[in-house]
Amino acid sequence: MRLLHILADSVVDGPGLRTVIFFAGCPHQCAGCHNPESWAMDGGADYTVRQVLEQIEGIGSRRITISGGEPFLQRTALAELVHALAGCDIYLFTGYRIEQLLEDAQARQILSQIDGLVDGRYIKTLHDSSLSIRGSTNQRILTREQLQTFLG
Ligand code: SF4
Repeated sequence: MRLLHILADSVVDGPGLRTVIFFAGCPHQCAGCHNPESWAMDGGADYTVRQVLEQIEGIGSRRITISGGEPFLQRTALAELVHALAGCDIYLFTGYRIEQLLEDAQARQILSQIDGLVDGRYIKTLHDSSLSIRGSTNQRILTREQLQTFLG
């Protein structure tokens, strides 16, 4: 999988102290994006799932956030990674709305294995700096229970 980098000890990417895995590549091109260097697919470096797990184990956190970029752009690699992270608390950030993701069987499988989803593109005109975790008011934080309701 192509990743920008792996960051230890973030307090702004979900509940608690988290290790953040940043996927390379994003098709959404939101105006005002905080991370436009993530848009290119050739940024960062290639990682195997084993390499990611080794780095995470070295850091020692069981709270993992997967962000980007757009993680669902590398859907098969994302599915393998989420499966390999079983037992961790996993938050996932995506520019897609969950309603779009539910149309795809592999995306549904991924959603069934995570603990929180932050969905939707960043919309500059809806920016609210008082929000936690997300940047604009259209973006939702969906808990595991809410995800299960969507999945039916
Ligand atoms: S989805 Fe996120 S990374 Fe992609 S353009 Fe929008 S704000 Fe930037």
